[in-house]
Amino acid sequence: MSKAFPLVLSLSSLDVARDDPELVEGSKDELGRSWFDRLTTSGAGVLALTVLAATACNRTPETPRARNLVLITIDTLRADHVGAYGYARAQTPTLDELARTGVRFDRAYAAAPITLPSHATMLTGRYPPGHGARDNGMAMPAVPTLATVLKAKGFKTAAFVGAFPLDHQFGLSRGFDVYGDRLGRDATGRPANERPAAQVVDEAIAWLTSLPAPPAPPAFFLWVHLFDPHAPYGDASAGRSVLERYDEDIATADREAGRLLKALGPRTDTLVIAASDHGEAFGEHGEYAHSIFVYDTTLRVPLIMNGPGLRAAVVSDAVTLADVAPTAARLLGVDLPDVNGIDVSATFSGRSLGTRELYAESFAPLVEFGWAPLRAVRSGFWKYIAAPTPELYYLERDSAEQTNVVSGQEVISRSLSQRVNQFSGDVLAGPGPSTDPKVTERLRALGYLSASQSATTRADPKDRRERAGHVGRAPGRRTDRRARRHRA
Ligand SMILES: [Zn+2]
Repeated sequence: MSKAFPLVLSLSSLDVARDDPELVEGSKDELGRSWFDRLTTSGAGVLALTVLAATACNRTPETPRARNLVLITIDTLRADHVGAYGYARAQTPTLDELARTGVRFDRAYAAAPITLPSHATMLTGRYPPGHGARDNGMAMPAVPTLATVLKAKGFKTAAFVGAFPLDHQFGLSRGFDVYGDRLGRDATGRPANERPAAQVVDEAIAWLTSLPAPPAPPAFFLWVHLFDPHAPYGDASAGRSVLERYDEDIATADREAGRLLKALGPRTDTLVIAASDHGEAFGEHGEYAHSIFVYDTTLRVPLIMNGPGLRAAVVSDAVTLADVAPTAARLLGVDLPDVNGIDVSATFSGRSLGTRELYAESFAPLVEFGWAPLRAVRSGFWKYIAAPTPELYYLERDSAEQTNVVSGQEVISRSLSQRVNQFSGDVLAGPGPSTDPKVTERLRALGYLSASQSATTRADPKDRRERAGHVGRAPGRRTDRRARRHRA
């Protein structure tokens, strides 16, 4: 054990642990201890972090500027199923080319493995406690987003989304001149809960075409959300494996992303950011799909930035999707207030971000089952998961998070437990999930909200794998989806 974790065993007290720059990354730089010590609640933390984000901005005066922003989010896309991330069987030429000529973040993590909270983090720069959408169906209150800030600066803004969790009623539509979330009806005539990427991209291209032409084109922000890789995967009737069908759905989304980029034409003044909102589990930790657990199976995502002045680079520093909005804002020359993330553009020129602590959570266990929520903090190679039975992993040697070392690492566990509590408590404040039965029904049809919310005991989700592991599989949509796919 001492060989495996020499840093921890050299410590004799919690205070020492908190001051060790290798043990608790960030403790001695601008993102370090004072950053955390001022974090008492999500709101206070957001305000404290704003100062630090601004500091980070000021240190990169040479940061290139872009005029427009295109954000492409491909739902449920694991980084390790993208060619640029080393996947041998990848069918992702669009993402691969963006990465080849842009900046690829090798260690990017969602703040929640759930569609609405994760997208809300991308658009606000806040962790879920800061934006309030802790689970699908929980509307985000009126907090500043990239869309609201850019619209206030005169940008034309539009979003086109592919699934019901991002419906306008959940709050992400604020700031968009156009919010395309009409999903049509499924084969049975009921309101559809998703739609194919081709339809989303058709609408996005039509909007781009509608913009005033040169010599005075407006600056714009376009967000396009492609849902295809979400379960169920493809057409099961041909006998192909689950992973083959998953890859085919990824290929569809990638192809449509390529069609969108082609329609943009020369992108000399447009920043393109491509990301996923979360990964997908195929049995790891007993989980299938996503949303309950906070292992890197579902937290690690692809994140690629490509735009004017950005040279090809691979960033190995750990980043969070909360960094997307402040970085985009910086590159567009606007300020986004009250963020948890930072401007990471310093990495474009090879500089390190220093060491940081990144937060992630899933409150789906609480909201959907009445179980304990899962909260995690990543600090260097350590990752701590707050749960009734807490977990600690040393990711450098255990990237699959197989060996819980809490019992041998009491000091670091106690320190990270305190820190995770500073990001968020284990209860929800404010309004809970939607009480609209129609909303609940549609979320359930996508595999969410699959159990009663009335449970009073807080079970550990990992002690309920038999139920938790299959949330999001959403049986019963196959026929409808195939029908839509063929129409597309
Ligand atoms: Zn999603």
